[in-house]
Amino acid sequence: MKAIQHIGIAIFLVGFGIFISLPFLGNFKLDQKSFDELMVYQGINSEIFINDLQAAIVDKDFSGIMPLSSIVATVTEKANAIHTENREWNKKVYASDDGLATSIRKESGYGFIPENKVLMWFLTFGLGILGSLMFIIPQVVTLGRKGIKNNGIYHQSSTNKGWIAWLVFIFLVSFYLVLYFQSEYAVNWTYLVDPISKSLSGNLASHWFVYGFMYCTVMSVMAVRMYVKYRNNKYQVLRTTSVLFFQIVFAFLIPEVMVRLQLSYSKGYDFKNAFPLDYDFFFSWNLTELIDSGGLGLFILIWGILLTVVIVPVMVYFFGKRWYCSWVCGCGGLAETLGDPYRQHSSTSLFSWKVERWLVHGVLVFAVVMTGFTLYGFFTEANVVLGIEVQSIMNTYSFFIGAIFAGVIGTGFYPIFGNRVWCRFGCPLAAYLGFVQRFKSRFRITTNGAQCISCGNCTTYCEMGIDVRAYAQKGENIVRSSCVGCGICSAVCPRGVLKLENGPEDGRINPTEILLGNDVDLIELLNKRR
Ligand code: SF4
Ligand code: SF4
Repeated sequence: MKAIQHIGIAIFLVGFGIFISLPFLGNFKLDQKSFDELMVYQGINSEIFINDLQAAIVDKDFSGIMPLSSIVATVTEKANAIHTENREWNKKVYASDDGLATSIRKESGYGFIPENKVLMWFLTFGLGILGSLMFIIPQVVTLGRKGIKNNGIYHQSSTNKGWIAWLVFIFLVSFYLVLYFQSEYAVNWTYLVDPISKSLSGNLASHWFVYGFMYCTVMSVMAVRMYVKYRNNKYQVLRTTSVLFFQIVFAFLIPEVMVRLQLSYSKGYDFKNAFPLDYDFFFSWNLTELIDSGGLGLFILIWGILLTVVIVPVMVYFFGKRWYCSWVCGCGGLAETLGDPYRQHSSTSLFSWKVERWLVHGVLVFAVVMTGFTLYGFFTEANVVLGIEVQSIMNTYSFFIGAIFAGVIGTGFYPIFGNRVWCRFGCPLAAYLGFVQRFKSRFRITTNGAQCISCGNCTTYCEMGIDVRAYAQKGENIVRSSCVGCGICSAVCPRGVLKLENGPEDGRINPTEILLGNDVDLIELLNKRR
């Protein structure tokens, strides 16, 4: 079995090695016809820009990491300066440098990679999947039959913040930086999944399609690991199946099929994402597009509002926020599959908990205020509210929260700060659901303190950094706004002390909490007693 696993690692590394080398490889050359078509498609009508860019790139060879976006940036800057001086606003170029450079590369690739897409898919994704499964599946035997084993987790550099974890961290952060800010280097990756994208939406793949496909692939492979590891725990098996289903069907397949049926709008609709996680739902361009498109557009608008203000909170009342964070959400789904080996890194310190409260609620307030501004701008058609440009607030939020926090930090930091960095410190929807869960819900984790042997497994593997053991020792219910109801504390408890329950609201809140009035005092008290 060990031999199969070692061969699996070798195969995985070959596939992974080819994948990460692709941004540095390949040949690109744009002919005149494709250039002209691209300019028309991009709606560019600045002769200065077209002439300069044509002179710089048409029929010229661009290989590997030679940057195109800097050329586009220089040409755009010059053309826009002249058009601004001449007050020719309709001729200014508004397309982003990176976006334009990415489109140019996509059009101009030639050679082995774009000519052997299926083979290249097998050499990257195929080997990666095969190698991973050869490593994971034999664990059915090597882990033994009963119980959930985390043996040696602090002795492996992949899971104890050792050198492998740091390499994973560097890869994840770099991957997100390329996706968000240097997508021209993701073009070779798009060729690998072009045939899949074509068969789903009828279009060639963009770098966001690569991300979506990779997201589903990684989740599926790591879900197999969850099935193997937690195979004796029905809650974990069902929960894993649920997040996998919602990610693949709702977040990936349906939006792609909607494009094929020409039912999609510029924003890929994931019907399960509620505001404020879906932070651009109330942006004026989105509202305008939905209202103007009638039929399905209006349905999406009404559904989005209902989901946010009725369905989500009502479900949290009955089941706690676990129904969303641990059973439906794509961010939670990745955290629970790819992130599972890192859950022990979530800090349980009082300091982290205070940072969490300020940060996550700060993001929620920011999201609500920004939305208020954009709605005001939408209804009054004002671009400036209280002296602040509406667009600049939207851009700031998209950049810092949407790209940096949710993407680069939220997933990139898994191997170092645990798997729920985004959910715990940044997700405004989690903060909103947390309020409902804390003050008006039937959900709680009950503890049978007499059975607790203080092993600390529950606290160690709580991905939200909750000191579960402290509650268990006192025999108190856990009613914390941050608990995502993953159920791992209960799964790893050797004494069956912890139970996730939805019961009557009476008796749900602990007497100590009522006495002390707030969580800060309670946590300080519990920390002192540890
Ligand atoms: S307390 Fe238990 S169920 Fe809640 S987040 Fe922590 S491990 Fe998951
Ligand atoms: S895992 Fe169970 S036995 Fe161990 S400290 Fe937590 S509640 Fe107690």
